Amino acid sequence: MKYCNKCVMPDTKPGVKLDENGVCVACNNMENRKSIDWEQRKKTLIEMCENIKKENKELYDCVVAVSGGKDSIFQVWYMKEICKMKVLAVCVMPHLRTREGIENFNNMMSELGVDTISITLKPKTFKSVRRKAFKEIGEPNWTDHCTVFAGVARIAYAYKVPLTVWGEDIAVEFGGRTSNKRVSSADGLRDNDLVKGMGVDRWYDDENVQKKFTFFYHFPPFDELKKHKLKSIYLGYYVEWDGYTNYLKAKDVAGFQPRRAGPLSGNYLDYDNMDEKLCEINIWLKYIKFGFWRPTDQCCYHIWNGRLDRKDAVKIVNQLQDEFPIEYFQDFLDFHSITQEEFWEVVEKFRNKEIWTEFKGEWKLKHPLE
Ligand SMILES: [Zn+2]
Repeated sequence: MKYCNKCVMPDTKPGVKLDENGVCVACNNMENRKSIDWEQRKKTLIEMCENIKKENKELYDCVVAVSGGKDSIFQVWYMKEICKMKVLAVCVMPHLRTREGIENFNNMMSELGVDTISITLKPKTFKSVRRKAFKEIGEPNWTDHCTVFAGVARIAYAYKVPLTVWGEDIAVEFGGRTSNKRVSSADGLRDNDLVKGMGVDRWYDDENVQKKFTFFYHFPPFDELKKHKLKSIYLGYYVEWDGYTNYLKAKDVAGFQPRRAGPLSGNYLDYDNMDEKLCEINIWLKYIKFGFWRPTDQCCYHIWNGRLDRKDAVKIVNQLQDEFPIEYFQDFLDFHSITQEEFWEVVEKFRNKEIWTEFKGEWKLKHPLE
């Protein structure tokens, strides 16, 4: 396990390789970003939107996937106010929302003024798939990623909305397993790092996880999308993407508020992924598998955007990463009907012994960040 010389990302992250100078893909991408002609990209996007508007008088011009988080508020605002598009916001509703999540979502709808379709997945099916995904791949939120991507694409297809707008391409921003080249099209979404090209059918059973209950877990057929000329793009290709400036914009245009009680355990930021309660354990599982989680992601983000130096980031990560996300732990157990014992049994199954070692009854990383 080695860490990038510029940021604090370890090479245990799937897809991350350090180059001959010990620098990670994401850092190199950020460096390349400086030479991009952003004005030209913006122009290209506006032209694309103008063409859509010309042909699409009656219907919505674009779909934006929303959660009420800072990035989705920024996306809706951008498409509506800068690109002047008729936006249909689509939300695959989280099942355990936080108070801030509900308020931010409501504020977004009233302040930005767009139509919204919310999909609430059949709870028994959703719970069951999450439980299986937790136990079998150590990643309960595979379910959420799959249904957000597929569900939003389903709505775009049903209403024949010509453009679907996603935020950042994680493969580019964070250095993922898929191509690290910055691309505008998000057609490869279903195979990205979050969904991994897997289908829900692997978890079919005779109860709640059956084809008839999982419509929103399946992408519409790709050739159908093509036939109707339905495109999807990453806004992060056209607009210089930065979670922090998105946060400030969301605050400004829709009264977005950070977490009232401050950052969650293990977090450095108080405005990142705080609209629902089930994702924190999922992110923490990365610590078990790859030796890093929230504080590393959040510090890297600040380093990449020039707001934090590596020395301070090392301190912050080492101070925060051993905190367990206790706030919604009981909610997580209750939601999936699992006991604490079962939980820890599953966790230990996924502990990566190549990077972890037991010392006086405690698990330590063999190669701590320094
Ligand atoms: Zn780096």
